[in-house]
Formats: sequence, structure tokens, C-alpha cells
Amino acid sequence: MSEGERLTELAKRRGFYFPAAGAYGGAAGFWTYGPQGAALKSNVEDAWRDRFVLQEGHQEISAPDVMPEAVFEASGHLDGFDDMIIECGECGATHRADHIVEDNTDIEEAESLPNEDVMDIIADHDIACPSCNASLAGEPVDNFNLMFATNIGPGTSSPGYLRPETAQGIFVEFPQLSEYARNQLPFGVAQIGKAYRNEISPRKSLVRVREFTQAELEHFVDPEEDEPPLADVEDVTLPLYSGESQQAADGGVEQLTVGEAVDEGVVTSDWVAYYLGVARDWYERIGIDMDRFRFRQHLPGELAHYAADCWDAEAEIDGDWIEITGFAYRGDYDLQKHAEHSGEDYTVFKQYDEPVTVERPTVDPDMSYLGPEFGGDAQSVADALEALAERDPEAFEGEDVTVEVDGEAYTVPVKETDFSVETVTENGEHVRPHVVEPSFGVGRLIYTMLAHAYTEDEVDGEERTYLDLPPEQAPTTVGVFPLMDKDGMAEYAREIASALREAGHSVTYDDSGAIGRRYRRQDEIGTPYCVTVDYESVEEDTVTVRERDSTEQKRVSIDGLAETIARLTEGETTFDDL
Ligand code: ATP
Repeated sequence: MSEGERLTELAKRRGFYFPAAGAYGGAAGFWTYGPQGAALKSNVEDAWRDRFVLQEGHQEISAPDVMPEAVFEASGHLDGFDDMIIECGECGATHRADHIVEDNTDIEEAESLPNEDVMDIIADHDIACPSCNASLAGEPVDNFNLMFATNIGPGTSSPGYLRPETAQGIFVEFPQLSEYARNQLPFGVAQIGKAYRNEISPRKSLVRVREFTQAELEHFVDPEEDEPPLADVEDVTLPLYSGESQQAADGGVEQLTVGEAVDEGVVTSDWVAYYLGVARDWYERIGIDMDRFRFRQHLPGELAHYAADCWDAEAEIDGDWIEITGFAYRGDYDLQKHAEHSGEDYTVFKQYDEPVTVERPTVDPDMSYLGPEFGGDAQSVADALEALAERDPEAFEGEDVTVEVDGEAYTVPVKETDFSVETVTENGEHVRPHVVEPSFGVGRLIYTMLAHAYTEDEVDGEERTYLDLPPEQAPTTVGVFPLMDKDGMAEYAREIASALREAGHSVTYDDSGAIGRRYRRQDEIGTPYCVTVDYESVEEDTVTVRERDSTEQKRVSIDGLAETIARLTEGETTFDDL
């Protein structure tokens, strides 16, 4: 069994996740998180919020999942959010053409090739349909838009789309969000929410799905002035797989500190470097195995049209590298697009420390002269004069001035342009912020955490499986068991369970089956501690606490039990010190 298969089996059996709507045959790419999965997901989201929102001093919003077409026209998703599709002429199954090429040849990043080339490669290699094995040679490769379309209200006059990323819900509201930030750059706005992509071929359970949760941060910065607090992370070591290494014959992952990566120019944006450092430590905190982890730089052909430098955090599972987060420097692309399409102001007014006086050349051409002289071109000539005055005021020093419109030269006497230089006082300027974006997929994080936490060992001659999730992330913190349901043990154990819940712990009470089986059940969902009530407990007010990873047990007093568990889960004390 592959890692992925045994994980999916465990996930279903123990209530982490399973295919949605199975009673009706299900729908590929939709999963339901069961009780353990939903708890784990909420813990991961809390940990993300803690690190990327609260500790950074950013704001969080919650925008709608459905938005009108104009938003996605502006963002470029309507026209460009496509994957390459190929349909089997024999069985009608559809596949991602670039993935088929990558799976059957040595070619990587087939996504960046033109459709015709992908079609040729499929023909040259005579690649077969993964569903029915018929040849796909000669089948056309087309673009398929991944957005789910809907109608807003009755009728079809107002199309809407389910958002393919949470980011646009932040960009489109920038004018309002900027006000809340008192128009002071830099500021960050985050969002945790659903995103929808009608993926051509969903696969690997939570890895490629059609509805998923993203945690995205858009950090708006003044490109001229703002600097990240690099000193906070400069000693964090990053496993970097640069574009250069990927293209070199003997290239591999290099371990560089954030400081070195910036100094050596391996990561070109200081802001991206900062977030790689923050994220590296955060991944470790949530239990991702740092020996199976790297940051991979996008190759030039892979870069989104707006992105200057882009790195993906990737985790290894079953020998494949899975993208779990994208870090992009998006420049001012998104705000610029929304400004153009909406006509609203997507800038921040930056006040100068002191007003500055500037000389501003202006013209006010005499249209009663330009009109008769140049006919239909008069307005274009006037506009060209205005642009020239701004660009090159010295051109107005002679008797005549010449401008070019559509390749043709027009000469105008300077006195007809009413050229003058005004002295004006300016208090500030409009700045269009640049955006740094770490974009996390929560489902892929969960899949990685579970795969990396999955451990098998032998205890007392018996095999067991356990998840060594960090206690902070584990869906259940404590299992409470009465050794037997007699002599007051069950009542006593129930009281302890209630007290622990009141203290804020996530508790499972379990009195069914042999005690060993109860331990195994908790091991499989990653519960770090189990508390057992036995005869001595009732007499002496003590319980045994068992640690998941070592399976060791210690007898402790029930006085202060809730605090002891809290100190253990927060790492303030160790099991050995009990
Ligand atoms: P891929 O190349 O794998 O399709 P992407 O580069 O399109 O992913 P982004 O647009 O950068 O992904 O989205 C940011 C994050 O959202 C990804 O790092 C991933 O964790 C998550 N994500 C994207 N698409 C999916 C999906 N179909 N299912 C689950 N998570 C996804």
C-alpha cells in the first residue's frame, strides 16, 4: 500500500475525511471532514491565524464565495484561468493533457508549453488514455476554464462565479480596507475560506479537489520604502531548490539561512524571503517533517504573468513533491487591474513630511486655432502637446513646437499652446501598493501533516499505528478511560472528563472494549495523552497518564490534572519531568 492509500484508509475509518455524498455515488473532488478531521482543520486554521494574522498584526476578513463576473474579468480569471484538457475519442474520459505528458515522459512543467506542442508530444509518444488504454494521438488539446459558473438571482442576466481563490475578495475591497488601515502602508489583510476549482481530474484525495479551504495573506507594501523585519528570521535555515539548481545537471536543495539567501540573491524579494522564514518555522510547529520538505522556485516559464519571484513550499509524500503553499511577489498587478476595470481609486495617498514645491509645466492649447488647422486630429494634437510639456518642457523654448500623432508630425506656434510653468505645492503623492502573497491550501497541509505523522511500531509484541501529531494540533488532547465499568470507576472517570473539558481540553471518554484497544484507537487519531481510572484512583485520588509516543505511563494526583495536561501540551513540561 502506498502512503496515500493507507492514509486514506485510516482517514475514513477514524473519521478524518471521506468522499462526500457516497450514498449517491459521490462526486469526484468533494470530501467531507469527519469529527477528527474537522477538529484538526480548525486547529490548523487557528495556528495559521495565530502566526500569520495575530502575531504579524494583520487584519482578517471574510468575503463572499460567489462574486459577479466583473470581478473575474478584471482579475484575468475569466480569460486565463485555464488548464489543458484532452478528451479520449474512445471512452470520452477527460484528462489534464500536461499531467499526462509529465506522467509518461521526462518532461517537467508541461503546463508552460503551448497546446500544439503538448498535442505533438502525446502523438510522438503515442500516450494512452489512463482510463481505457486507447491511443490519445491526434486528439485535440484545448483550454478548459476552471471556474464554476452560476447565476446571481433568477434568469441569466447576471452571471456569477464561485471564487477560484480567496485573494480577489481582498483585492477588490482594497479602497475600503485601506481606509480601515488609516491609509498607512504597509498593512496586511488575511482570509481563511473556501475556494472552488472545477479541476479536470481530481486526485490523491485532499491534494487535488474541487472545493478546498485556502488561507491567504495579502501584504500591501510601499515598494519604495517598506522593508520586512528580516532580522527576526535571518537565522532560520531554508531548504532552497532554486531555479538554477533545477536546471543544473547536479543541482539539489541548498540549505541557506534567510540572511544568506537574501545576500546571495537566491531569493530576490526580501518580503518573500521574510515569509519563507516565518513559514518554515510554522510548518515545523504543525508537525510537517523538515526532512521531507523544500522551497522550490518557479522556473521562468512557470511564473504567473504578474509574478516577479515565486516559491512553492513542497512536501514529499510517496516520492512525489506536493505544493502546499505558494509565495508570490505580485507587484501592483491586481490593484492596477481592479482600478482600470472599476474606475475606482486603488492607491494610497502618501503624505510628505513637509509639503514640497514643484514646477509644473502646463499647456492650454487654443482650440480655435488647432480646430481649423488640424480638423479631426485637433484633440489628439492637444493631448500630445500636454504630454510633451510634462515630458520635455524645453521643447517649448523656441517659436514652434512639433509633436507626433500616429507617426505624423504636427507643428504648432508656441504662442497658440499657452505654455507656462506653474509653481505648485504638493502635500503628498498617490502610491499604488505592491503585494506579497503567501497562499496556503489547508487540505494539502492536513494531508501532509497526517502522512508525515503516520508511524508504525511494536509495543509488547503487538504492532500499532499512531500519529505523532504535535499536541497543539491533535484533534483530541486527552482520552479518559475507566479501567472497568464497576466499583465507581466509571462515575469517577466521567467527573474527570467533565473537569478536563471545563478547563478547555478536547476530551474523548471511552469505556468500550479492552483497555489496550482503547489506547490503539486514540493512538490512531494522534491523541497525545490518555488518562485511566483504576481501583487505586477511587481510593487515592490518582490516575495514570499514558504518553502516546513512548506508551509510558505515570501515576499522578488528580489535583491539578488539567493544568498538568495543559503544561504538557504547551511544551512547558515534559512527560519525563512528571
Ligand atoms: P496546482 O499547480 O497544484 O494546481 P496552483 O499553483 O494552481 O496549484 P495556487 O493557485 O498557487 O495553486 O493556490 C495556492 C494553494 O492552494 C496551493 O498551494 C494549494 O495548497 C492550494 N490548492 C490549489 N488548488 C488546489 C486544489 N485543486 N485542491 C486542493 N488544494 C489546492
